[in-house]
Amino acid sequence: MEKLKQMIIDEGYVIEPDILKVDKFINHQMDIALFKEMGVHFKKHFNKQKVDRILTIEASGIGIASLVSLSFDMVPVVFAKKQQSAITGHTFYSSNVYSYTKKVNSTIIVDTRFIQEGENILIIDDFLANGQAALGLIDICRQAKANVVGVGIAIEKGFQEGRKHINEAGVDVYSLAIVDSFLDGKVVFKENNEEL
Ligand code: 5GP
Repeated sequence: MEKLKQMIIDEGYVIEPDILKVDKFINHQMDIALFKEMGVHFKKHFNKQKVDRILTIEASGIGIASLVSLSFDMVPVVFAKKQQSAITGHTFYSSNVYSYTKKVNSTIIVDTRFIQEGENILIIDDFLANGQAALGLIDICRQAKANVVGVGIAIEKGFQEGRKHINEAGVDVYSLAIVDSFLDGKVVFKENNEEL
């Protein structure tokens, strides 16, 4: 997706050896027009199967997933929560996820009311690094006996293992921008992004 790549070049910056900050348009301030256009691209790719719900993880996936829903007949967006609130009285699916940016393990939960057996679920997230967040969401869908249509990612770091792990789990990954490397603090994209 050319617009996303250009915004990463213009406004993104690299911190640590392998963390890309895009807080001007994704992770803090959110560019709603950009998120809406992401939905159009995801719809073009994931057009073969019906999507019943979109599943993401708090917090950064929520904004993107909400706008992506516009391209999928405004299906409900469910986000996995990172911890259980004391006031909830329902049952949950849960999975353990290691956070790449926070370097801690957390349990993510989704209320069993919000993913039903047999549903087609599209997973959406902002970044793909080692795939832990997406694998946790796939695990939850499988506990619910729901079908995972695919994983849609805004920015994939192609030099990390996420795609490999998700494909090994039998799930298709589609990313709108794939970063090949960070060279002297500059983002180098992978060239073969068909249909982007
Ligand atoms: P994974 O679970 O694939 O290892 O990491 C993906 C999650 O970690 C995403 O939900 C995202 O919030 C965060 N993340 C991973 N790498 C980056 C990065 O380079 N920049 C930002 N802003 N977040 C990242």
